[in-house]
This record gives sequence, C-alpha cells and structure tokens, in this order.
Amino acid sequence: MPVALSQSSRWFARPLALVVAVLLIVVFAIGIFGFRYWQERQATTFASERNDEVLETLDRLKSVIADVEAQRRGYLLTLDPTYLKAYGVSDESVRRDTQALQALVANDPLQSHRAEHLALTVAEKLREIDDIVKTARTSSGSAALAMMRSLDEIRSQLDQMVDHERFLRVDVDRRGAMLERRKAWFIAAAVVIVSALAAVALALARLEATRRRKAIAENLALHGDLEARDKKIRRLVDANIVGIIIWDLDGRILEANDEFLHMLGYGREDLASGRLNRTDLTPAEWRDRDVRTVAELKQMGTVQPFEKEYFRKDGSRVPVLMGGTVFEQSRNQGVSFVLDLTERKRADEALRRSEERFRTLVHFSFDVYWETDAQHRFTHQEFAESLADGPAPGSEIGKTRWEVPYLEPDEEAWRKHRETLDAHLPFRDFELARPGPDGSRRYVSVSGLPVFDETGRFVGYRGVGRHITERRRAEEALRAMQAELAHANRITTMGQLTASIAHEVNQPIAATVTNAEAALRWLSAQPPDLGEVRNSLGLIVKDGKRAGNVIGGIRAFINKVPPRKDRFDLSEAILEMVALTRSEVLKHRILLRTELAPGLPGVSGDRTQLQQVILNLILNAIEAMSASDKGARELRIDTEREVKHGVLVTVRDTGPGLDPGDVERVFNAFYTTKPEGMGMGLAICRSMVEAHGGRMWARPNEAGGAVFQFTLPLVRDETAPSESPAAQATGKTTP
Ligand code: ADP
Repeated sequence: MPVALSQSSRWFARPLALVVAVLLIVVFAIGIFGFRYWQERQATTFASERNDEVLETLDRLKSVIADVEAQRRGYLLTLDPTYLKAYGVSDESVRRDTQALQALVANDPLQSHRAEHLALTVAEKLREIDDIVKTARTSSGSAALAMMRSLDEIRSQLDQMVDHERFLRVDVDRRGAMLERRKAWFIAAAVVIVSALAAVALALARLEATRRRKAIAENLALHGDLEARDKKIRRLVDANIVGIIIWDLDGRILEANDEFLHMLGYGREDLASGRLNRTDLTPAEWRDRDVRTVAELKQMGTVQPFEKEYFRKDGSRVPVLMGGTVFEQSRNQGVSFVLDLTERKRADEALRRSEERFRTLVHFSFDVYWETDAQHRFTHQEFAESLADGPAPGSEIGKTRWEVPYLEPDEEAWRKHRETLDAHLPFRDFELARPGPDGSRRYVSVSGLPVFDETGRFVGYRGVGRHITERRRAEEALRAMQAELAHANRITTMGQLTASIAHEVNQPIAATVTNAEAALRWLSAQPPDLGEVRNSLGLIVKDGKRAGNVIGGIRAFINKVPPRKDRFDLSEAILEMVALTRSEVLKHRILLRTELAPGLPGVSGDRTQLQQVILNLILNAIEAMSASDKGARELRIDTEREVKHGVLVTVRDTGPGLDPGDVERVFNAFYTTKPEGMGMGLAICRSMVEAHGGRMWARPNEAGGAVFQFTLPLVRDETAPSESPAAQATGKTTP
C-alpha cells in the first residue's frame, strides 16, 4: 500500500513541478525582458535629454552669436564703444558654449566632428571679427558686412547641427513610442501566461492536496489495520496455543510467550537475563538444520515448517515442529511458531508399536486380516508373508464376500453364513475353499466379529482367516491312510482267514485229488477194480464233507467269539466313519447325507467291530456307485429308533442295486461280483451284527440302488434319552 501511494504521489507531483518550473522560467524571462526594457528606456531618456541639452546649447549659441553680431555691427556702424558694453557678450562665453557642445555630442561621431569644426570656425571667425573691430577706424558698412558673412558661416554650421539633432530627436521619440507599445504587449502577454500557469499550478496543487488528504486518510486506516492486526497477533501470542518466539539471526531469543517457556521448562527471568539462545537450545545433530534455516531465512525471508528438537532446561529433549519468517522492517529479526510434538510422537510411537504387535499377531496367528463394510464389501485385506499364493493385494477390495470366488460352495452352509452376517452376529472357523493361482484348492478358515460405531450402527466386520490347506491335506492324508488301513485290515483279516481256510481245506482237497487219481487208475486197470474205485469215491465224499465242516467251523468260530461289551454313542461312531471316508466320497463326487435320530440311548457292544460293519457298508456303496454311470451319486445313512429292535441303521445308495434274487446271496461267504473281491465282507458283517444280538438284511432301493439295514438292541436300563453331541449333526450335509 505505501509503495502504491508513493508512486501515485510522484505521478501527481511531476506536472506540478513542471508547471512551477515553467512559471519560474517565465518570471525569469519577464525579469530579463524588463531589465532590457528598462535599459533601453534609460538609453532613450538619456538620448532625449542629451538631445534637449544639445538643442538648448545650439539655441544659446545662436542667440549669443546674434548678440555678438548686433554688438559688433552697432559698433562698426557707429564706432560707439557703448555698443560693445551694452550686450556684455564676450568671446569667452561663445568659446565656453562651443566646448560644452563638444562635450555633449562626444558620443555622436558626426556631430562631434561638426562641433569640433564649429569650435575651430568660431575661434577663427571671432579672431577675424576682433581684428576687424580693432582695425576699424571709421564706421564702415563693408566691415560690418564682412563680419556678418563670417557669422553666417557659423550660423549655417549651427543650423546643420540643429537639423541633425532634430532628426535624432525624431528617431529617439519613435524608439520611445515603440518601447511603450512593446511594454504594453509584453505586460499583457506576461499577465496571460502567468495567470494561466498560476491557474494550472493551483489546480495541480489542489489535486495534490486532495491526494495528500486521501493518503493521510489511507495511512490512518492502514495504521488502524496494523494496530488491529497487531492486537490479533498479540492475542495469538498470549493465547499460548503454540509457542511463539521473536529472535534475531544471531540466535538470540528476544521474546517468547509462556507456552514456549513452559515447553522448555524456562521462566520469564531466564528470558529477561538474555540467557536463551537458539543455538544453545539446539542439540548438536540439529545445528546443521539450524544453519540451513538461517540461510533460508536470509534468502527467502521465510522458512517452511520443519521438525527438530530442543533441549529442555533439565537437559531432556522435546521434539517440535517450527516455521518462521523475518520481519519486513528489520531483516535481522523475525518470529517463529514452535509446536510441541511430544504427544503426537508418543501417539505415533504407540500406534507404530500397536501396529507392529498387530502385524506380529497376524504374522504368527493368522494368514489374513480383513475388514468389510456394512454391505459386506472388503475394505481392507492384509495377507501374511507366508501366504505366498494369496490374491494380489487390493484385488478383492470393493467386492462383497459373495463376489470373491470360492470353490465347492456348500449352498446350505453359505445360506447359514449369510444369515449370520445379515444378523450381524460373530462367526468362528467358517471353512472355505478358494482357487489357488495354480488351480489347486486353498482352504481358509474364517472368523469375524461385527463392528458397531458409537451410535450402535453396524459398520462392517473385522476378522481373520487361517490358511488351513496344509492341515486339510494332512487330515485328508490321514483319513486316506486310515481308510487304506481299514482296507488293509480287512484284507489282512480276510487273508488270515483265507490262509487258515486254505490250510484247513487244502488237506481234504489234496486227499480228494489223490483219491480221485487213484479211482481213475483203478478204473483204467484191465480189468477195472470197481471195489477200489468205490473205496476211493467213498474217501472223496468223506474229504468233501470234511472241507464243508471246516467252513462251517470257521463261521461257528466267528459267531462264537463273544463280542466286547462297551457302551458307546452310535451316532458318534457313525460320524467318525463318515469322516474317515470323506476323501473317498469327495474323490468319487458323491453326496453323503446323514440323518441320525437325536437323543439315541447308548449302544452296548464292540465299537470297533460295529464301526467295521458301517465302514464295510459305506465302502461297498462307494464301490458300487463309482462302478456305475447312473445319475446323481447319493449315499445316505439314517438311524431311527425302533420299539421292537432298539435301533435301525440304514445305508442307502444310488448304485446299480441288487436283484431281488440276490438279496440273500450277497451274504454268502465267497459270493462276489468283483474281480478282486473276496465275497467275505457281508458274511462277516452279518455274523458280527448277529453276535451283537441284531439282524442284518438287504433290499433294492425304490429310487434305484441298494439298501442295507441292520438292527442293534439298545442298552436295556437306558430309558431316558440323553442329548448326544452328534444329535446336533442331524441334517448335516457333508460335501
Ligand atoms: P466283496 O465286496 O468282496 O465282493 P461282499 O460280501 O462285501 O464282498 O459283497 C458281496 C457282493 O454283494 C458284492 O460282490 C456285490 O456284488 C454285492 N454287493 C454288496 N454291496 C452292494 C451294493 N451296495 N450294491 C450292489 N451290490 C452290492
């Protein structure tokens, strides 16, 4: 503002100065002209006066000459000496006037020359006249005439001079008149010019005055503004919201508010004593930064906010944010704000630590940390480093939980999960399979907690995911191994059985063969010995019966082995077998459903044997279904309570099924339709069930496939049904 003002004042001042200068020049010119006019006027006056004197002198000379002529002529005509005395005219006075005339016209060369000539003529003629007078003895008219002639010459010279003077006089008068005229014009012009210039100067002076008045008013307003600003700054300083210091570039702190002093633990007296110096307050490693700051302040006048540290009075350090600027008036001093960052740094540090802890937690406990919004869209996902095959960071942000691809979605489980999410309830260990980058399955177990804001509004979920692929694989491998083992067990059992059967049966068969060969030999003898043949055949029949007895004995042996009597939960035992065969079920894409009656009383018996029965039925069903191409493969295991027989277990499949004629045959030992089959499984199963006091049978399934059922008696004293954990599994579908 002051800059603009001074510029405008110069702009206005310039023409005024010009006008004043012109005015002065005009006045000066007028002075010069006036002086010259005065000089000329003087010269004219002088010339006029001299002219007058010359004419007067000439007149006097003329009258003197006339007197001289009258005196001499009277004398010459009368010779009366009184004539000479009566006029009293002397030659001396003529000479004096002539000299006076010479002096008067000394400046005029022509007149001067004439005057000189006149003087000479006068002197000569007066002498001649004196001579005539002295020599005249008689009155003589001729002498008088001669004298008059002499005087005429003088008179003629005088006339010449008078004429010249008169001519000069005219010139002088003309010059005088011209000067007068010029004076009038000059005065008029001077008056006009001076008045015009004076008017312009006046106008400009008034403009200048107005401008000055305005400038003063503006200055006053500015001053008021500055004062108001000053007050505001003072208030800011006194408010002690931030530390404020006034310093000089040498490092001295000239002024500081309470906040700054408080921040550093100093008092007013420390400030007053001049002990506070910016450099001393700055730790050594920050001094470089200070030097740069000073350089920046010198160059730019201001320094952008930056972080540094100060020493407190007690020697501890305080982290601060500061920025500053130098004063406009004195570039050596300036003001800075200083903000205490201790709290912020502490909070930052706490946050950083908390994040580190959180990361460690995620790193070691979970593989994924996720957040969703109220619409179940992922807003944040963090994958552990170990999850090298996780999705690209951010690739799933914005997608809902339903839009992220999952494998083998279990409709029922998803529906329930969705309900949980929509009800904003927490959930635990929800297991999902998702495609890995190589197309393999990645199993994740997800848990989440709903998040509500302070008003109680649901804002989303926060949760973790655990990568359970390895665990799943291990479990599946274990199951497969157990199944293999079960198979192997079965085969081993069968093998042992077969070995003993082979051993027992081998002998009668070997004997049969020997006897048959002997019989053939007796028949081919000449003549054949029929008695021996009969004998041999009799032995063959005996051995055949012995072999049959061996088989019967084995069955009887199995039946006779008294089963162990444990009390156990049948549903639990069934579910264990379901879990054991899970990988087989999955492998052959079979849907296995269980419908287990809730609250069944315990079953008494050999848990392992009965599990073998169930396992055998499940494996048979899987084998039957995997061998056929018939539509949907479904395996269902139901249990239900029967008043008469206790509990009824049904295993139903959708395989090729059984012919009505085969329903009993399948239970025969060694009956098999499989190339690798033993045909002993069902026979042994029936024996085991019967050994437990139950019954076992088979029938075709109405919907296609086979149904195998068996009953088991329940523990007699158990009347009140107990809630078994497996009861919750009712209706559960295991994909
Ligand atoms: P293996 O399984 O060694 O053949 P099993 O005694 O278990 O011996 O079965 C005897 C036969 O009964 C099988 O070969 C098969 O022909 C028939 N069978 C068993 N279970 C089923 C089933 N679920 N569906 C159709 N046929 C079956």
